[in-house]
Amino acid sequence: MLKNAIQPTILFIEDSESFATMLTEQLTQYGFRTLWRPTADTLDQDLRSNPDILAIICDVFLEHGSAAPQVRALRKIGTPCPPIVFISGNLSFTTRLEAARAHATAFFPKPLDIGALVDCLEALTRPSAPEPYDIVVVDDARAIAEYHASLLNEAGMRARVLTDPVRVYDAILEQEPDLLVLDLHMPVCSGVELAAVIRQDPRFVGLPIVFLSGDQDLDRRIGAMRFGADDFLVKPIDPRFFVSSVAVRAARYREMRSRISQDSLTGLLNHTSIKRQLDIEISRAQRARKPVSFALVDLDHFKRVNDRFGHPVGDEVILSLCRLLTQRLRKSDLAGRYGGEEFAVILPDTDLHQAGHLLDEIRLAFRQIVHYPMGTSFHCTFSCGIASYPDAAPEHLISFADKALYEAKRLSRDRVTLIGGNAAKNPAAIKPSPPAT
Ligand code: GH3
Ligand code: MG
Ligand code: MG
Repeated sequence: MLKNAIQPTILFIEDSESFATMLTEQLTQYGFRTLWRPTADTLDQDLRSNPDILAIICDVFLEHGSAAPQVRALRKIGTPCPPIVFISGNLSFTTRLEAARAHATAFFPKPLDIGALVDCLEALTRPSAPEPYDIVVVDDARAIAEYHASLLNEAGMRARVLTDPVRVYDAILEQEPDLLVLDLHMPVCSGVELAAVIRQDPRFVGLPIVFLSGDQDLDRRIGAMRFGADDFLVKPIDPRFFVSSVAVRAARYREMRSRISQDSLTGLLNHTSIKRQLDIEISRAQRARKPVSFALVDLDHFKRVNDRFGHPVGDEVILSLCRLLTQRLRKSDLAGRYGGEEFAVILPDTDLHQAGHLLDEIRLAFRQIVHYPMGTSFHCTFSCGIASYPDAAPEHLISFADKALYEAKRLSRDRVTLIGGNAAKNPAAIKPSPPAT
């Protein structure tokens, strides 16, 4: 269930063993495997024998001088070299130049901002392709719909065909597409009427609707635009023009949607969006007769962190938890910032106990992360409450998870508490977790 199966390997060249041990421990918490070397002497050999090394972290100045010449030598002998992140306690221009000359992808000063380093390594080692645009193509003539869908699919989008306009509204509720391509003339309900129905729902006011029709009549085309079409494309259409019209609008809509639905500090879904996603996932689970779990995660004694180290340090802790959640959850899971220092996680197709184990592993990883503000260090913990459908009725998922969270807090925090449907009054801790240190 965890994403550990794809643990990226980082080659870490650092002459201070204690620093290497500390950073290795931290990176392990974020799912990276490190291979430590005190010198760059075996660089070429290491890269050749470990093709799974996806990035290198290298101290600029090692015990016997700069690491740059050995890195540059790789190019001369033609050894393929992954991106290199240089680190150094020496922040002079010369040091930075030395790193740049060794083809540094990034440079991080010591003491390290671990969060920023992890973000950088994430970007370098897990370059995830952008999710393809989801398009729904509606045309009562299946062959025509499939032809247009195939043009979009060939261009890397995910197009789905619907021939019955009556089913479109439910489909977009479930699928949340990035754009709708509508035929104008269809039996039962015209494209314009269908657009009007969709626009009645405030959630779809911004959904791009593009008409695609052979109808050349200008009045009807203007009428379609009045009822909420974003564009009116006339068939036959040049495939490239069709694909680019759809892609441009889908991209803009997705960008707009993500700005509205994301929390500004963490980039996770915001409170409104995560609740909306929960409704969607519950409907999916009911239809597919599968479980879905909902977890609330709240940082422990977080007020003390702010009081002791200040709000910006508190923000960093929130970000570190956000990073960990994003890394450890599966692609199909959804994480949101539910409140200030409270997060919500939706785990589709995951029952209560599976969810409990997953969140407990994340809890154990989080409590080991060391935060380093102002020359000192501390650990932080969280408590978590989980409820699942079908153990609990859909309308109770949030309140039960909240009850379970309250129970975890009451039982001295730093633990995950599960709540069953009829055990609502008696939630059982899945593991007695050691108290926070
Ligand atoms: P408990 O273990 O019972 O949850 O204790 P707590 O101190 O974490 O809970 P409490 O609700 O008393 O305090 C939450 C604190 O979280 C208070 C608030 O200032 C802080 N907080 C909320 N949002 C943010 C944020 O975005 N950044 C920072 N730095 N602090 C925040
Ligand atoms: Mg708290
Ligand atoms: Mg709180």
